[in-house]
Amino acid sequence: MFDAISKGFKNAKNRLAGLEELTEQNIETALREVRLSLLEADVELSVVKAFLARVKEKALGETVRVRAKGTDGSTVKVRAGDVFTKICHDELVAFMSADGESIRFADAGPTGIMMVGLQGSGKTTSSAKFARFLQKDLKKKPLLVAADMQRPAAVEQLMVLGKSIGVPVFNIPGASPVEICSKARDEAKAKGCDVIIYDTAGRLAIDDALMEELAAIKTNVAPQNIFLVVDAMIGQDAVKVSKGFHDRLDLTGVILTKLDGDARGGAALSVREVTGAPVRYVGMGEGTDKFEEFRPDGMASRVLGMGDVVGLMKDFQSVVDEKKAAEDAMKMLEGNFTLDDFLQQIKTIQKMGSLKDIVAKMPGMDQMMPPGVDLDDRELVRIEAIIQSFTKAERRDPYAIVREPSRAARIAKGSATPEVAVNELVQKFLFMKQMMDGLGQNMGMMGKIPGMN
Ligand code: GDP
Repeated sequence: MFDAISKGFKNAKNRLAGLEELTEQNIETALREVRLSLLEADVELSVVKAFLARVKEKALGETVRVRAKGTDGSTVKVRAGDVFTKICHDELVAFMSADGESIRFADAGPTGIMMVGLQGSGKTTSSAKFARFLQKDLKKKPLLVAADMQRPAAVEQLMVLGKSIGVPVFNIPGASPVEICSKARDEAKAKGCDVIIYDTAGRLAIDDALMEELAAIKTNVAPQNIFLVVDAMIGQDAVKVSKGFHDRLDLTGVILTKLDGDARGGAALSVREVTGAPVRYVGMGEGTDKFEEFRPDGMASRVLGMGDVVGLMKDFQSVVDEKKAAEDAMKMLEGNFTLDDFLQQIKTIQKMGSLKDIVAKMPGMDQMMPPGVDLDDRELVRIEAIIQSFTKAERRDPYAIVREPSRAARIAKGSATPEVAVNELVQKFLFMKQMMDGLGQNMGMMGKIPGMN
């Protein structure tokens, strides 16, 4: 995800390496790299142009500031590449963010959330994910309404999903979608539900019949929210589709799905600018728990190849207590954590979810993984077994195993793993320690650059 774009921004930064001034010429050179990568990632041409123009304007405005910093006796060294990256980050955030609340709640009576989108975009799945999110994070009592009568399996699918998350699903077999949606309010009242999520029909492409059905539902139930579900994999088409829906239904937001896949990421950047409807939530996997509020700054950091540290910490915090998470994070960033801490981390990671999801958020981690490496969660169990066979002293000082190979042989026997796996683990740990150390220093450095926080 975002590989092409991240590469472009990195190349741009490299072009500015060693320079302490932003000039019109070096800005142009850097922007050319960014332009290429954005187009490659399928970002809408008009969006690319607008983005580059804004970055250029800001960067040109910085030339004086950067130069002034060098001559006013300040000890802080501002580097052109960092300033450029910071400008890109801010502009990316500006492109993707929006004012106002993600969900509009009704003043009285149940809140309506209408889900619309093309077939296969992930509408039914997202309806269930949304219900789970409302229930778990916002302590609401949602009702799911199965009104997708177009796709034969959609009703059954929603029933199954609803059951798995303990949310009631309403449907009237044989009734029209408009009728089902209209009657859902009574059902919500009867069941004491305060939010109604309408899963409507999709089509393979936008057509008049679909739009009329959706417009009729909108008129009948007057929902406070209309979310368009967009598959991030379909690139520029996604944006055109969004515009079609927005023109007709006046969307309140977009849910971007399949961001866990290898989408090039163009849609995430283009949707708001082209349609005016902001991305509010993202789908990060097939499970009903893979649903997150969209955070433009986290997304911008990922696009720039800086990882989503905030998202990672949030995942941490959902499984460990906040204070401990902060301490762990500091330990990790300072590079002074031991194998015992590492073992503890592994246990935490196991609670956080799959390794793939976590690595996607680690700064630079995706690029460091050799291609073809499979992140197998069973590997964690093996690592745990190996570390359990270390002595206390070895946990504190894993270098001992490198120094004395007989130790690796003993551990291999104790954990019933090949010796090579033991050595590999030690190497990996030492490497990780080094990397975290580097990251901590980088972050420290970022904090020292004015405006880089
Ligand atoms: P609908 O026709 O729009 O209702 O689409 P579905 O909800 O049935 O989703 C279509 C397919 O996409 C299903 O196989 C879902 O499991 C899958 N899907 C939906 N959201 C995501 C997501 O965020 N990530 C991934 N990887 N798959 C998803």
